[in-house]
Amino acid sequence: MQPEPAPDASATPMVRFKGATKRYGALTVIDALHLDVARNEKLAIIGPSGSGKSTLLRVLMTLDPLTDGVIEVDGEPLTHMWRSGELVTASKRHVRQVRSKIGMVFQSFNLFAHMTAIENTIEAPLRVLGMSKKEASERGRELLSMVGLADKCHHYPSQLSGGQQQRVAIARALAMRPKIMLFDEVTSALDPELCGEVLNVIRKLGSEHNLTMLMVTHQMGFAKEFADRVCFFSQGKVIEQAAPQQFFSAPQHERTQQFLRAVT
Ligand code: ADP
Ligand code: MG
Repeated sequence: MQPEPAPDASATPMVRFKGATKRYGALTVIDALHLDVARNEKLAIIGPSGSGKSTLLRVLMTLDPLTDGVIEVDGEPLTHMWRSGELVTASKRHVRQVRSKIGMVFQSFNLFAHMTAIENTIEAPLRVLGMSKKEASERGRELLSMVGLADKCHHYPSQLSGGQQQRVAIARALAMRPKIMLFDEVTSALDPELCGEVLNVIRKLGSEHNLTMLMVTHQMGFAKEFADRVCFFSQGKVIEQAAPQQFFSAPQHERTQQFLRAVT
């Protein structure tokens, strides 16, 4: 008999939703979702308000538990683990370890108001990774410089514009060296002229880092130009997905066509 070929690690999706379901009481917000996100893929998630896009990112970030189904990160169940061939609830330690591969940036910047930009950036590496202050600060300065804020290290959030605060939030998430970055409408709270500087940072991340990205966005232009694939979400399901060129020029589903007519 021929031996089984070794599984190709690079073919393991970075994120896999397997029958992922999230209910709040009688309301099903994520509905038995199957979705794979490939290594280094840039996935744009669009859809109407209330369709479950934020919830999708929140359950992946383990901010909210799934009601049913499993999420795998880099081939490992996120909140479960295999024991004697059976899938059981994972220890908090296991969850923390798998989740440490994920960083998230929210619509509201969520910075610590009483900490400067650099203090915000090094807080988690110091506390969670146990990094030395020297090492964390060096890396923090590099990251703030990468997002164009080298001269703002010692500013407090209240002394920064919305776009600058959002760039600190991105640097802070990157400080934990994630493999996956989640962006939930990160430009929605910003004036149009400040959106550009945040989107530029995301573009730069896309080209310089081996990062898998899931981006919920209202910026159709950005999704079209930056994403490898666009998913249209409605009522907790992916209704349509395609490469951006095809998705925006020839949407197949009536619900997608309706949505795109309304937003573009
Ligand atoms: P989107 O990001 O696509 O606008 P959300 O994921 O925020 O949608 O919300 C999807 C649905 O789930 C909405 O109907 C919302 O009211 C509901 N929802 C979200 N979070 C909660 C919660 N913590 N408790 C109850 N319902 C919630
Ligand atoms: Mg949302």
